[in-house]
Amino acid sequence: MAAVVDLEPCSCLPVGGVHILAVGWLGASSPIPTGPTPKDVYQRLKEFLVNPWQPFVSMGVHECELCQFEGEAVGNANLFIPYDQRIYVCPAMISHYINAHRYQPPSVFMEAVRACPPMHSMEYKKLLVQCNGRILWQDGTS
Ligand SMILES: [Zn+2]
Repeated sequence: MAAVVDLEPCSCLPVGGVHILAVGWLGASSPIPTGPTPKDVYQRLKEFLVNPWQPFVSMGVHECELCQFEGEAVGNANLFIPYDQRIYVCPAMISHYINAHRYQPPSVFMEAVRACPPMHSMEYKKLLVQCNGRILWQDGTS
């Protein structure tokens, strides 16, 4: 998994844009912001990860590069969190990073997670569209 600095445009997807921002794309060789993350944010992320909305088919698993010995393996899903004209994209591994490695996501991302409607709800889809998210389920050419 390629590391991307938090809140930089996400280069890990088949499509992208200046408003599609990476959160939690951590790697072993880059510095990791650490600190407390409020439990409600963590739990909300876990809820989203039960059945995340996925515009792309992603197979296989990632193995955590930060674990000391055997890396925790987590499915390849990503979370798309629309908020304030931007869409934050994080890997499913983010909950493990927070729980096991004390990763602290940017505060704007925590706000976005708290404000995000349930995935698969009409509200969520509308918010994605409002945040210019159509690019995610088209191929980006139209
Ligand atoms: Zn780990």
